[in-house]
Amino acid sequence: MRRLYINGSWIPSSGGDGIDVVNPATEQVIDRVPVGTRADAAAAVAAAREAFPRWAATAPAARAKFLTVAGEVLAARAERIARVIAADLGAPYGLALRLHVGLPLRVLRSYARLAAEYRFDAGRAGDALVVREPAGVAAAITSWTLPLHLPVCKVAAALAAGCTVVLKPSEVAPLAAYELAEVLHEAGLPPGVFNLVSGSGPVVGEALAGHPDVDVVSFTGTTATGRRVAALAADSVKRVVLELGGKSASVILPDADLAAAVRATVESAFLNSGQTCAAWSRMLVHRDHYDEAVRLAVAAAREHRVGDPFAAGTRIGPLVSAAHRERVRRAIIRGEEEGARLVCGGAEPPPGPGYHVAPTVFAGVEPGMTIEREEILGPVLAMIPYTTVDDAVEIANGTPYGLSGAVWAGDRERALAVARRLRTGQVHVNGGAFGHLAPFGGYRWSGVGRELGVAGLEEYLEVKALHL
Ligand code: NAD
Repeated sequence: MRRLYINGSWIPSSGGDGIDVVNPATEQVIDRVPVGTRADAAAAVAAAREAFPRWAATAPAARAKFLTVAGEVLAARAERIARVIAADLGAPYGLALRLHVGLPLRVLRSYARLAAEYRFDAGRAGDALVVREPAGVAAAITSWTLPLHLPVCKVAAALAAGCTVVLKPSEVAPLAAYELAEVLHEAGLPPGVFNLVSGSGPVVGEALAGHPDVDVVSFTGTTATGRRVAALAADSVKRVVLELGGKSASVILPDADLAAAVRATVESAFLNSGQTCAAWSRMLVHRDHYDEAVRLAVAAAREHRVGDPFAAGTRIGPLVSAAHRERVRRAIIRGEEEGARLVCGGAEPPPGPGYHVAPTVFAGVEPGMTIEREEILGPVLAMIPYTTVDDAVEIANGTPYGLSGAVWAGDRERALAVARRLRTGQVHVNGGAFGHLAPFGGYRWSGVGRELGVAGLEEYLEVKALHL
């Protein structure tokens, strides 16, 4: 059994219970993590509160140094941690190394630089001096989808800002968070500055979200849980960051390079077995090109080999758990029942052990169908025909979510004009790559606040006006 990390020490949970960690490819138990209690959450908050004044007063350059060292430790352990994530989440090893470890490493390094370079003290407004100060104790509550990246986004930004942190990772795929705790411990972070309490959402998550000594709660997960977290946080008027679900559209305009746009959309929809918040899970194609796009999408989907995360050539590992696979299968069955046309994959799981789902493509999807509106978080792509560009924009904006999206056109200006009309936090224009310094977050049901870069740092800062 692992231990909780509180006040610089590894300690058992006061309740003594544990949660099995299951490898979703082999269905075998590979580890066990403690089920934290409300008392454990309170002890972690007390440690973070005690450590706060000194950490907040630590010079930003010294905070930067800790983060730089943490980056070095993480880089040295990259392959080991990628193996842990491949076994715990089911991500193919190559993806685990490149995305699940490579991305948070870049984020950690970016916050080491920002801590050193950000001008905390230099604002002016009329005659007033405007300073930015650490907001206090931050609670970070994270989803399993990107099990190292999501904790790092929150923890690195908070530490750079001068906040102290209590992290509650998901009870699903929790091992990467333990690796992060070991990295920060090894980097020599002072006791109490970072704390880890694993456990269930309704117990540890709610204890943190409602705790009067927590000043900021940063949450990543479903919209339903985000509402609950925000409601609990309201009582003590915390700052709240919510990074929630999505149902993003890739809008392919008639003059776009169809083959490139379809291929990239299929890749986005199936990345991480479709278990990413920002997946382009809806592909919008003009009716004149629709049949050709379906043919291209099916061909691209068939190239996504499903299999063992450690086998060469696997592009799609299992889904994270048996329960999640069941949710995804039910969504596929619902799509068929509502009249969408299954052109690839389906609800029948591939043979063998592991919580696999075949890459699945639906054609003939109409706006308003459940598979068009609701997040599935599995390898399921919905292809929707449109008639005019105005229709495409209306369909793209027609779900309550607004997280990501893409626009493809023959030239950048036309693509940009449509991108500006999408009510969503980020849009990839003609295949523009994701950048880890750009603000990341959602409109409407996809959330409140931003992560990454300067915008992510400022979520952990209070603003003070000094009138001179
Ligand atoms: P979830 O809401 O079930 O759980 C998220 C976290 O909240 C977990 O740590 C869980 O233990 C905790 N939790 C559960 N109930 C709680 C409660 N009552 N109070 C406090 N905490 C509670 O979500 P999930 O299944 O882990 O994640 C999938 C969702 O996350 C998807 O909707 C996905 O789109 C979203 N997501 C969003 C982003 C983003 O940046 N916008 C990134 C990754 C994932």
